[in-house]
Amino acid sequence: MSSTTLINTAPDAVQTSAAETVETKISLVGLGRDEISAELLRIGIEPKKVKMRTKQVFHWIYNYGVTSFDQMTNIAKPLRGKLEDAFTLDRPEIVERLISVDGTRKYLIRMSPGVEVESVFIPDVSKTGALCVSSQVGCTLTCTFCHTGTQRLVRNLTAREIVLQVIIARDDLGEWPTTQENRRLTNIVFMGMGEPLYNTEKVGDALDTICDPEGLGIGRRRITVSTSGVVPEIGPMGERTKAQLAISLHAANDELRSQIMPINKKYPLKELMQACRDYPGLSNSRRITFEYVMLKGINDQPWHAKQLIKLLKGIPCKVNLIPFNPWPGTDYVCSDAETIKSFSDMVNAAGYASPIRKTRGQDIFAACGQLKSDSEKKRASTLRKEAKAEKVAKA
Ligand code: SAH
Ligand code: SF4
Repeated sequence: MSSTTLINTAPDAVQTSAAETVETKISLVGLGRDEISAELLRIGIEPKKVKMRTKQVFHWIYNYGVTSFDQMTNIAKPLRGKLEDAFTLDRPEIVERLISVDGTRKYLIRMSPGVEVESVFIPDVSKTGALCVSSQVGCTLTCTFCHTGTQRLVRNLTAREIVLQVIIARDDLGEWPTTQENRRLTNIVFMGMGEPLYNTEKVGDALDTICDPEGLGIGRRRITVSTSGVVPEIGPMGERTKAQLAISLHAANDELRSQIMPINKKYPLKELMQACRDYPGLSNSRRITFEYVMLKGINDQPWHAKQLIKLLKGIPCKVNLIPFNPWPGTDYVCSDAETIKSFSDMVNAAGYASPIRKTRGQDIFAACGQLKSDSEKKRASTLRKEAKAEKVAKA
């Protein structure tokens, strides 16, 4: 990793104490096609050649994962030099990388000063694997069973910062080029920190790069976006991304759901279920996944299962039962294994697949609902000051 800072904006100049000026190069990694084109235009690439050059650069970054402009062998040397002078191919810093006994990998990534996010790679037995990505730092919602919900929202992630999470995992797994057979990183789930439907536009933009065959090449059917139920965004997100929908349901009556998920007061179950029925492309082969966290004595009784079955009537779906993952300070306890099994049996008997999710990565605190970074909301002025101090220190 070079010492150049990864920033989102055009290069700016930082005054050092010696009063000399240091140019900060920006990294092209994580940018979408249009952003790369804009950067190439900015450094004076002939407008009529920008489209072709963008295609080449995009291909090297996302199909091959190159880390140096010299590897872009179909681009003439002088132009490679020009790119090298203006840009980098740096990734953000991995602050922490933990590997669980079950093979789950957790990354804590520092996107910019004070902005740290977690993503988790979960390998499956069938040689596939899902990367669980974050869409926000923290969350505005305060679901009572969720650790992320105790962290205030720091900010939405940019599309680039979402794409970078995939790049970092692919680097770490050594899975370049994209076209390589037997890749383990086959699926993406937006089940990390934050509420993706409060950041729909950036999630959509990120998926344009992630799903592009000349980009990271992960098919749209292998993308799942999970929401706590931001009803007005569900349809538009489906149209924009063509992703699979997962709903964090966790309770099948308004009273209980509003208690454990305050968003239910704003968008109650009737509206949520209607949005599910209307989800673009919904069919038996494109079913919705309802997530249901098993909380002992709260939502795990047979009558809860009956209510759930009634609520799901007519919706092509399956129900993922998630054993509650504890975190420091929570009062909730996970339901007993037998209770979860009989809940699952009831839902199954009503015709809905109802797998019990295996808890993964608990030893490294990477399981569902356990993600929380130490990033705290700071005043923008403090962040700017820190960024400037860092640039000067590195110069
Ligand atoms: N904000 C989105 C995306 C996060 S997905 C959403 O809520 O859908 C994370 C999933 O883990 C959600 O289904 C969430 O409800 C669930 N979850 C949260 N805390 C949990 C915990 N402690 N144990 C198990 N699952 C939890
Ligand atoms: Fe936010 Fe989802 Fe956690 Fe609720 S469950 S607090 S919406 S991350």
